[in-house]
Amino acid sequence: PHDQVAQGPTTDSHCPYCALQCAQRLGGHPVAAEPRDFPTNRGGLCQKGWTSADLLRAPDRLTQPLRRTADGLVPTTWDDALDDIAARVRALRADHGPDAVAVFGGGGLTNEKAYQLGKFARLALRTRLVDYNGRFCMASAAAAANRSLGVDRGLPFPLTDLDDADAVLLLGSNLADTMPPSVQHLAGPRARGGLVVVDPRRSATARLCDDGAGTHLQPLPGTDLVLLLGLLHVVLGEGLADVTYLDERVDGVEDVRRSVAAWWPERVETVTGVPAGQLRSVAHRLADASPHRGGRGAYVLTGRGAEQHVDGTDTVSAAISLALALGLPGAHRGGYGALTGQGNGQGGREHGQKADQLPGYRSIEDPADRAHVAAVWGVDPELLPRSGVPAVQLLSSLGTESGPRGLFVHGSNVVVSAPRAGGVRDRLASLDLLVVCDVVPSETALLADYVLPVTQWAEEEGTMTSLEGRVLRRRRHVDPPAHVRDELWIWSELARRLDAPGTWSTDASLVFDELARASAGGRADYAGLSHARLDTGEALHWPCPDPDHPGTPRLFTNRFATPSGRARMVPVRPVGPDDDVHAEAPLHLVTGRLLAHYQSGAQTRRVPALCDAAGGPHVELHPSLAARLGLDGAELVRVTSARGSMVAPARITRDVRPDTVFVPFHFAGDSLVNALTNDATDPVSGMPEFKVCAVRVERVADD
Ligand code: SF4
Repeated sequence: PHDQVAQGPTTDSHCPYCALQCAQRLGGHPVAAEPRDFPTNRGGLCQKGWTSADLLRAPDRLTQPLRRTADGLVPTTWDDALDDIAARVRALRADHGPDAVAVFGGGGLTNEKAYQLGKFARLALRTRLVDYNGRFCMASAAAAANRSLGVDRGLPFPLTDLDDADAVLLLGSNLADTMPPSVQHLAGPRARGGLVVVDPRRSATARLCDDGAGTHLQPLPGTDLVLLLGLLHVVLGEGLADVTYLDERVDGVEDVRRSVAAWWPERVETVTGVPAGQLRSVAHRLADASPHRGGRGAYVLTGRGAEQHVDGTDTVSAAISLALALGLPGAHRGGYGALTGQGNGQGGREHGQKADQLPGYRSIEDPADRAHVAAVWGVDPELLPRSGVPAVQLLSSLGTESGPRGLFVHGSNVVVSAPRAGGVRDRLASLDLLVVCDVVPSETALLADYVLPVTQWAEEEGTMTSLEGRVLRRRRHVDPPAHVRDELWIWSELARRLDAPGTWSTDASLVFDELARASAGGRADYAGLSHARLDTGEALHWPCPDPDHPGTPRLFTNRFATPSGRARMVPVRPVGPDDDVHAEAPLHLVTGRLLAHYQSGAQTRRVPALCDAAGGPHVELHPSLAARLGLDGAELVRVTSARGSMVAPARITRDVRPDTVFVPFHFAGDSLVNALTNDATDPVSGMPEFKVCAVRVERVADD
């Protein structure tokens, strides 16, 4: 570990991990993180946040550039690495055109880096092929929010609004494990028996419903959409809807009413397994909590469990329609929101890393949007490439006849986190040039031709945008190791070597100012924000169009962000899982998270206390399945899908359904569960169907 030089006795910043972005104070020697009071975490941190400073001392921290030779990865100098990378990019472009090189970004990058990476791809590499790992976690919720509400901001209200609600419907979110300090905002609804958790597994969040605090609905995996259609059927059919609100603010109501007519609760029960009486009772509970019936408020929230399906966008559309039917979005005490997962999953999707978007949620195909951003960048709009392809399509095309021959990866460990991960690994290995920027030698970095060591959270300046659209300052507390560089410096050096037009600042504050100008007038408007303003202690929700604007904690209070100002209910039809169970693979596989780990585990698997808490994977299976397999403890089992298999110890529990197994996805090697998951995607958003596929489970022979 390098000798860390602190910038001062203490520094106020935020946690490096999830989108709750709990407030931290960094200080001491060795550096440690303590909680600070902030509305979302109220002085709390989870185990990951408390131990986050251990990341600075990771024993295998990357501290100098590496290049691949016949002897493997060996140290090199920055000049040699950057000169050779630029030369190889030029050669690939000369031989195969600008789309010969692609870019894969991450939802953990600061806003400044997310912005600069999109600009680097389009102006320096001149490729249209840029997308990021947020496509795996937020794409369907974003697409549904855009088509119904006109804009995608995960929570269009402060998280603290939940405190006073009578009811919260949580679909496919295990926030008690993923962001534990957020659970305190459910105290009010739980005290009034109004928490409703929809999850095929009895997760830590589902257990919050115990003792009269709420209701856990445990549907068959892949049937969330049917369940939502059933709730809509009851709300629209039993006089529970807010008809005044629907008349004044919503289009498409009659289309949706017709589309849910056939989903009466008894029919829904036959598909989902959720008792019809329970469904009716939840619909009435939500309606009674809604402002139009005199309740204190109701919220409908989705997480990845509901969103990561081939009908993910339609599932979220149904959730939004339910919220609209109850008169919630834009109401003083109610709303629909998606619980963003990655640390900067919100900002990461606003500033131009997405294949089809420019900064400020601008469209890369819209002439006015292209002209605005090109003017900020100081280039001719004709120079900007057109739309690229979503992440799964991008990864699938790598190394193919017509696909890219080179790839830059920033802030993502796709070999572990992508669906059908075995195929992704093979395709990365077949490339002519793979450049990975990372903090540690992740499984993806170990395949690279060049590994470039970059700064991590407590070593860099920038901003993050939390799950409630609030822009926060990330601050440097310690100097990075001597040969580690900020990505802004790397892109500036490569841009110069590639003769890219435009300016390439390495100062995060100046990059933010440029980002703010590029976003001005867009749907995610940061024009009134700056590092200087945020440093006064403000943490403001966008849109914030001018320096005197107080930010916008609550959206849609007067109008929706659609051209007409009215929300749109969208009729949808369930399609079911792409890879459904059959005789050879009779069980549903559901994947998810553990409290002690974050995403691919590249960071948290290097923190000793987190490994002590959860050192490895397991396969949760029901006692009845365990009995059929002859298991009575933690014997090794093999889980196999049409795409691959993995091995891990069994964990016998009644928390899963008899027809379902659950595996956490933070682990690699023989326990890589994404080797099994399905890369079929939602046609609207490009979201892959991580959350359900068909598997068989076998006991691994003792010998
Ligand atoms: Fe908070 Fe998330 Fe960090 Fe835990 S991981 S401390 S919930 S920001």
